[in-house]
Amino acid sequence: MKREQMLKQVGERIRPWDLIIVGGGATGAGVAVDAASRGHATLLLEQHDFGKGTSSRSTKLVHGGVRYLEQGNVSLVMEALKERGLLRQNAPHLVSELACVVPSYAWWEGPFYGIGLKLYELLAGKYGFGKSQHISKEETLQRLPNVNPDGLNGGVVYYDGQFDDTRLLINLVATAAEQGATLLNYAKVTALNKGSDGLVNGVTWKDTETGKIFTASAKVVVNATGIFTDSVRQMAEPDVDEMIAPSQGAHLVFDRSFLPGKNAILVPHTKDGRVMFAIPWHEHTLVGTTDTPVTEISLEPIALEDEIGFMLETAALYLDKKPSRSDILSVFAGIRPLAKSGDGGNTAALSRDHTIHIDKSGLLTITGGKWTTYRNMAEGCVDQAATLADLPDKPCLTRSLNIHGYHPNAANFGPLSFYGSDAALIRQLATDDETLNEPLDPQLPYLGAEVVWAVREEMARSVEDVLARRTRALFLNAKAALRMAPRVASILAKELNKDETWQAGQISAFTQTASGYLVKL
Ligand SMILES: Cc1cc2nc3c(=O)[nH]c(=O)nc-3n(C[C@H](O)[C@H](O)[C@H](O)COP(=O)(O)OP(=O)(O)OC[C@H]3O[C@@H](n4cnc5c(N)ncnc54)[C@H](O)[C@@H]3O)c2cc1C
Repeated sequence: MKREQMLKQVGERIRPWDLIIVGGGATGAGVAVDAASRGHATLLLEQHDFGKGTSSRSTKLVHGGVRYLEQGNVSLVMEALKERGLLRQNAPHLVSELACVVPSYAWWEGPFYGIGLKLYELLAGKYGFGKSQHISKEETLQRLPNVNPDGLNGGVVYYDGQFDDTRLLINLVATAAEQGATLLNYAKVTALNKGSDGLVNGVTWKDTETGKIFTASAKVVVNATGIFTDSVRQMAEPDVDEMIAPSQGAHLVFDRSFLPGKNAILVPHTKDGRVMFAIPWHEHTLVGTTDTPVTEISLEPIALEDEIGFMLETAALYLDKKPSRSDILSVFAGIRPLAKSGDGGNTAALSRDHTIHIDKSGLLTITGGKWTTYRNMAEGCVDQAATLADLPDKPCLTRSLNIHGYHPNAANFGPLSFYGSDAALIRQLATDDETLNEPLDPQLPYLGAEVVWAVREEMARSVEDVLARRTRALFLNAKAALRMAPRVASILAKELNKDETWQAGQISAFTQTASGYLVKL
């Protein structure tokens, strides 16, 4: 994956692309993998970095969604459970089984949640993870050493999947590239172009690094822009009715002491009727999430004070060592692109199903859904695109397509396990140059070699790309990430041939972004 090479491929394309995909999140990258592996000529354009939008801000669960079962959406749960199984099969270096414990404090909770979770397990069928079971008070305390013991009766344990969202995204981009797709970050679509028949037949886009403007034509344009879906649709038809109800969710990150061990906690009913998780993630504790309807959308949403207060309050009910504001290492928020229904007042009740929609202009939009179901969404989208654009009928191959980095025993690579088969190459970089073998900060495991890898092989262009989405430093510990920024800027400058003014600009921009991940005390 080299940006210069991708730009060259775009410049050399004379014929229209089969598909142009606007948006480089889970949805767009999934469509690119599917389309390219079917042999369609595919271009993906992302306005910022891959995963800058919602796809870096999930709760990091590959799950069927216990909550949707309660809402009666059995088909969504079954589809997601199947996709959970396929994703673990195709990307075992990134997806692992996670034991989730529902602690019970009232006599009826154990049997009640036990029945629901048994059904959840049954719906997974052959794609099942571990078996759910009732556990005693002692075993609950053993699995969750910091759970609040007051009034605890026992619990129910069930199994779901866990992943690293942007590592998967970067690996999907690499997979699409290996299948022949051309993918560019920092490529913003500014207009949709139409033919004499009034149908969308291409895009105008801007390379935001150089400011140069380009046009590209395609048999079909796919809008995979998440919360920006409606603004892109309006580029073709200014009067279209909006289809997105944006809903914000926030997360807090603490150190491991709040959730020692390997088990997660599921709180099935918070006071606003949501579920809340505390999850061990990259040797930290991730708590989330919320569901707040919002009217303003942004690539860098900020967690609201109410959301932070609510999560601290809920965590304090279930944890013996109670987290406070000063324990928060990072806070991050994301916005769900939910399909609109009614007045959008209660977004928690809105469906997590995805929508594939064709406007009168011929623009194909895919939105909603979940990270977990990106593959199935992409399959449906490319089927539709092939019909719409009269592309050759070719079967979908992604059910059994290994994702870049595939490695069955990646855990052997220790802190580099998330790179899968690339881990050995990163180790080699660190061996060849011992200055790259040093941790960039004592509180996080990241090495200089990972920065070099990110810029050489994963199209990282900025300090933020490295610290937020190639490594997860900013999401784990914002202060540590700020400390790492100067060294990262200097490695990047050497690799990209940039001067000190560029480095200073990078550090200043990152400091500004990182301020949104720190809580004021
Ligand atoms: C708080 C929260 C928790 C979640 N937790 C989970 C979970 O645990 N498990 C799960 O399965 N799902 C989860 N989800 C859902 C999942 O994260 C989303 O469904 C998914 O990431 C949406 O991906 P997307 O590609 O549609 O959108 P995005 O990731 O937002 O991608 C859209 C992209 O389009 C780009 N774009 C916009 N306009 C343009 C333009 N003009 N030109 C070029 N590019 C453009 C944007 O920059 C953006 O990168 C969660 C969501 C939230 C908000």
